[in-house]
Amino acid sequence: MNTDVPVIELRHVEKCFGDAHVLKDVSLSVMPGEVVVVIGPSGSGKSTLCRAINRLERIDSGEILILGEPLPEEGHELAAVRAELGMVFQSFNLFAHMSVLRNVTIGPTEVLGVSKAEAEREALELLERVGVASQAKKVPAQLSGGQQQRVAIARSLAMHPRAMLFDEPTSALDPEMINEVLEVMVSLASQGMTMIVVTHEMSFARRVADRVVFMSDGAILEEGTPGAFFEHPKTERAREFLDSIR
Ligand code: ADP
Ligand code: MG
Repeated sequence: MNTDVPVIELRHVEKCFGDAHVLKDVSLSVMPGEVVVVIGPSGSGKSTLCRAINRLERIDSGEILILGEPLPEEGHELAAVRAELGMVFQSFNLFAHMSVLRNVTIGPTEVLGVSKAEAEREALELLERVGVASQAKKVPAQLSGGQQQRVAIARSLAMHPRAMLFDEPTSALDPEMINEVLEVMVSLASQGMTMIVVTHEMSFARRVADRVVFMSDGAILEEGTPGAFFEHPKTERAREFLDSIR
């Protein structure tokens, strides 16, 4: 892999919803193997940023490059790029009527053309890796929230993504389930996965983030190492925000 090209790069991205200016001149590069944690108050544009990277949301101006190539407008090219960017949301978004195993194999068999046997072999490996292999035959509703979120991660990994985007993956979970999901993410990070993680889990950010990006009101106000950002936030907005969640 070319290690000089950012896996994800945003250049001067602007986005409005009607009168609301939701992304303001957002520029961000994520290099291979980097873990970038995005934090900021509710409504600051974090989810819109994640969705824009997958083109689930169109941007008004600026550029988004994936592995140095402009994000395609639509069609097969866009589908191919989406397959390279795993996305895990707050709500687990599993297919309710399918088994856990099928949730993980459907992408590889339907999109990547992998054989059923091969997809199942790999799915079981992935489910093992996230600690839910014993649940493979159940449907999502029979699993806890933490287990479902780990299945969602396995499902993304089954597509062999070049990067993973996590949008508040633990904020819908009961407290006792948060750590089991964070541990899977810590392990992914330690294996070199390129990641953007929107989260308010500060201990996670301190442990795994190479960089913390602070967003407020649609703009990136600060960017730095976790140590620098948490100990010495430069802006009043960041200080207020950190006080509010500590
Ligand atoms: P965050 O994830 O940081 O809480 P969001 O990206 O979800 O912030 O939202 C940023 C702003 O954009 C908010 O003011 C939100 O109300 C607005 N917004 C998000 N999605 C839409 C939409 N589809 N239509 C209109 N406004 C939206
Ligand atoms: Mg959000």
